[in-house]
Amino acid sequence: MKTDMQQRDFNHVWHPCSQMKDYEEFPPIVIKKGKGIYLYDENGKSYIDAVSSWWVNLFGHANDRISTALSRQSTMLEHVIFANFTHEPAVLLAEKLASITPGNLNKVFFADNGSAAIEVALKMSFQYHQQTGKTSKKRFLALTDAYHGETIGALSVGGVSLYNEVFQPLLLDTIRAQGPDCYRCPFSEKQESCSAPCIAFMEEQLARHHEELSAVIIEPLIQAAAGMKMYPPAYLKKLRELCKAYDVHLIADEIAVGFGRTGTMFACEQAGITPDFMCLSKGLTGGYLPLSVVLTNDRVYQAFYDDYGTGKAFLHSHSYTGNPLACRVALEVLNIFEEENVLESNLEKSAYMKTLAEQVFSQHPLVGEYRQTGMVGALELVMDKATKEPFPSEDRIGYKIYKIALEKGLLLRPLGNVLYFMPPYVITKKEIEKMIHTAYESVQSFFQETHDKKEVLIHE
Ligand SMILES: *Cc1c(COP(=O)(O)O)cnc(C)c1O
Repeated sequence: MKTDMQQRDFNHVWHPCSQMKDYEEFPPIVIKKGKGIYLYDENGKSYIDAVSSWWVNLFGHANDRISTALSRQSTMLEHVIFANFTHEPAVLLAEKLASITPGNLNKVFFADNGSAAIEVALKMSFQYHQQTGKTSKKRFLALTDAYHGETIGALSVGGVSLYNEVFQPLLLDTIRAQGPDCYRCPFSEKQESCSAPCIAFMEEQLARHHEELSAVIIEPLIQAAAGMKMYPPAYLKKLRELCKAYDVHLIADEIAVGFGRTGTMFACEQAGITPDFMCLSKGLTGGYLPLSVVLTNDRVYQAFYDDYGTGKAFLHSHSYTGNPLACRVALEVLNIFEEENVLESNLEKSAYMKTLAEQVFSQHPLVGEYRQTGMVGALELVMDKATKEPFPSEDRIGYKIYKIALEKGLLLRPLGNVLYFMPPYVITKKEIEKMIHTAYESVQSFFQETHDKKEVLIHE
């Protein structure tokens, strides 16, 4: 039975990342309010937001500090055209980002969502080469299973067929290198001691194509949409050197992993590298408002800096570029990082989460692996633990467990056969326990259901 709001939603709303027919049987949950790690629906039922509302939330829903900063800013200046105009929140934010990001990333270009930031980075890299005499550099190199957003350019560098298969005829001709796959490592490396021999796939493509390559784009440390595939910093270190040697830009897409997700403020820090472009969004505003930035260095900037008549300016604009409300909120997010020892207390929380999750899940017959980097933990569900054989995607087992977990008050949206924990940083140890135990009960209840059915079949 649909509630009134669910019926009206069904009449007019088209939801993202959804087969709308599923909504006949399984209408969307109508959320009334949020507080901390909890969401509350129209009937007052609570849900732990274990996915930080699609990876954007850092400090909980309806966070007092952020809400106050937002409402103050809204009575001062909500928005202003960003060409030939500027404002304090944008200037302070650009200064701050330049100071906390690695190395010489000094220039900040604003956009309004992750995909738009990717478009900006691709266009800047391409135009840089056009304006510095390397006009053959027109293509991009990305990893298999990469995800960089869903506008046409961003989709072109993405490698998850679920999202881009049907659009293939519209997409840029991207070169693809096989990415790291630590769970099913073809080199049988151990992650602790891994020296990233799989960089060879990348090196091969760079050697063959560098003259036509503008940039390599990568998600540092975690290929998130691919199913939280995690790989060691050694890979990034080698990639940075290769890009330099072959005169190809390195674009770090830290949209999902930036702002403390992997344990350091930015994932690139763990490899001690500075990319030529860094894209940030999602956590940038703590999950409050859409905003993104692309950071780059002075060398790139200077290739665009000339007399008007030379036509070298970077022409890319969005109506809401540098929105003051979003910038003010982002500044408050960075204040919280500074003043509340966030990274340090996350270290303790993530260690606790890892120990507990490993203990709870490692013996479960459906769980091939539990892996974790910083505040991101993931369970890979498999048919057979020994062979690591995956469940066929049409079984939708992640989706089935997701529905069970929702009943139990846990929002645990799957990526295919991977369930993951990416909670807001305000989660407490007690709440971590509740999240993991509820996830376990959900997996277990699914297992028992299917197990019983199998037995029935055998008896028949
Ligand atoms: C979410 C995401 C994007 C796209 O950001 P949107 O704001 O959803 O357009 C790009 N890259 C990565 C790594 C992401 O996780």
